[in-house]
Amino acid sequence: MILPIVQAGDPVLRAPARPLSLDEIQSTAIQQLIADMRETMRAAPGVGLAAPQIGLGLQLAVIEDALEYQANATPDELAEREREVVPFSVIINPVLTLEPGAPVEFFEGCLSVDGWMALVPRAAAVRVEALDENGRDVRLTARGWHARILQHEIDHLHGTLCVDRMDPRTLSSHPNYSKFWRGHTVADVRAALHAPPR
Ligand code: ZN
Repeated sequence: MILPIVQAGDPVLRAPARPLSLDEIQSTAIQQLIADMRETMRAAPGVGLAAPQIGLGLQLAVIEDALEYQANATPDELAEREREVVPFSVIINPVLTLEPGAPVEFFEGCLSVDGWMALVPRAAAVRVEALDENGRDVRLTARGWHARILQHEIDHLHGTLCVDRMDPRTLSSHPNYSKFWRGHTVADVRAALHAPPR
C-alpha cells in the first residue's frame, strides 16, 4: 500500500522518533510497514524514506538507490557525487558516526519538502550501527551519495530536516534546478546566486 507522505510543518517531522524493540521489529505490523514504506519510496520515487515521513515516530528508515534512478545523471555527475547503486535496505535504531574530513556540498531534496532543493553540506563518509528488518545487528560504512542518504534519513529520526542544514540562498525549485544548476559546479552556483561559501 502506498502511504501518504507528510509535508514540512507537521510536528511529527520535528519530534525525535522512538526506538523499536526486537519483538516489534519481528511483528506482522512492522513487517507490513516496511513493505508499505518500500512501495511508497519506489512510487515517489525517492532514494530513502523515514517513518516520520509517513506520520510514525519510529526509528525506522528504508533506503534504495536503484540503477534506473541514476539514468538521468551524467557519468560526471555520478562520479562527482560518488553515487553508486545501493540495494534496498532497512535501518532500525541507527547510530550514526561521521568520519572526519571536509564536508561536501551538493543539491539535495526531500520528499517532505516537496518541489525544492538546496545545497546541503554533509560528511563525505559515515559509519552506521543499526538493526536490519530481521532485528540483526548491521554495521556499515558508506561514502559519497550513500553516506548522504544515510545522514538525511537518520536526521529524520531526530526531527531534523535538510532545510536545517541547507544554505537557504541556494534554495531552488526542481524546475529551476534543472534549468539553471544541473551540471554546474558548486562554485558556479554560489557565484551566480551571490551565496558565498560558508
Ligand atoms: Zn527527507
